[in-house]
Amino acid sequence: MKKELHLTPIQNWLPHPGRPLIISGPCSAETESQTVTTCKQLAATGKVHALRAGIWKPRTRPGQFEGVGEVGLQWLMAARHETGLPVTTEVATAAHVEACLKAGVDILWVGARTTVNPFSVQEIADALKGVDIPVMVKNPVNPDLELWIGALERLNKAGITKMAAIHRGFSSFDKGPFRNAPMWELAIELKTRIPELDIICDPSHITGARDLISFVSQKGLDLDMAGLMIESHITPDAAWSDAKQQVTPAALNKILEGLIVRQASSDNKNFKDTLTTLREKIDQLDDDIMHKLAERMKISEKIGQYKKENNVTILQVSRWEEIIHTRVAMALVMGISESFSKEFLKLIHNESIQIQTKVMNEKMEKQP
Ligand code: PEP
Ligand code: MN
Repeated sequence: MKKELHLTPIQNWLPHPGRPLIISGPCSAETESQTVTTCKQLAATGKVHALRAGIWKPRTRPGQFEGVGEVGLQWLMAARHETGLPVTTEVATAAHVEACLKAGVDILWVGARTTVNPFSVQEIADALKGVDIPVMVKNPVNPDLELWIGALERLNKAGITKMAAIHRGFSSFDKGPFRNAPMWELAIELKTRIPELDIICDPSHITGARDLISFVSQKGLDLDMAGLMIESHITPDAAWSDAKQQVTPAALNKILEGLIVRQASSDNKNFKDTLTTLREKIDQLDDDIMHKLAERMKISEKIGQYKKENNVTILQVSRWEEIIHTRVAMALVMGISESFSKEFLKLIHNESIQIQTKVMNEKMEKQP
């Protein structure tokens, strides 16, 4: 189901001639000179369109640096004055919103730990009624697309139309290579549901490690994200928050130089013709796959009937193990990854079990 949001295109409120849009700045404003110097160096690259710095920091454990508070807004405004670039910071309460509006902050963002709480998002939305300021909404910490969309809707209902989403990944108990699992499929689903909403990728919080930022930034751009938000600090290792993931403005410049910016489409006739031919092949193959699946399910139904007549259980563990073993091995030889073929077979097997369960539970009189 497509969602209806009334949106103003991002180019209208944060112009960035040529993609991608780049937002950068320290995780936290720590001192006036750290904030202003970092921002000036970022502006000097000529590649940054907006500056960021956290003033109120949501920290997982108490006792850590929780932001400098309101005084930091003045440092951010000084950076704005020095560079001429718009500035953005995180708000989590109505009081934060009021302080930012009073100071003249250009763009607000809602953090991952706030998006997760509809009470907090509503409080922010209420504080923004009648105000025409852009707001970016980070994904909630848990992989719940409805919560993310719900936060966007609450703000939109309050009259905010200048909106973007920020994809910063999802926390999980299992620690993979990243600080927050990107789960790209959620961002893709958001784009499918609300195509006119721009998504900005936050590789800093996804990776938690500066060496991986380049890789994740490229992935974000390849998925047609509108821009990147990357944390930068004059002396990253000495940062008071998120030290491992921050990069110097010079390193950021290098990362940006190395990125390949692909177009969303191409007008080249040759490209279009080739793409059409390849897509026709895909259409045909998808058709074949669906027919084969339907055929397979019909046989499952017959097996269910047969098992029922002979009073045999639906689940046959040894048969299932054999299927997984042989099919996965075959798929591997054909260049299909083990994880994909396993997931695919599991889906088929579950559906087959459901079909057989239905057959088993049908009334006796239905039997031939
Ligand atoms: C941040 O941007 O510094 C921040 C706290 O991000 P998140 O809400 O994604 O954790
Ligand atoms: Mn941070």
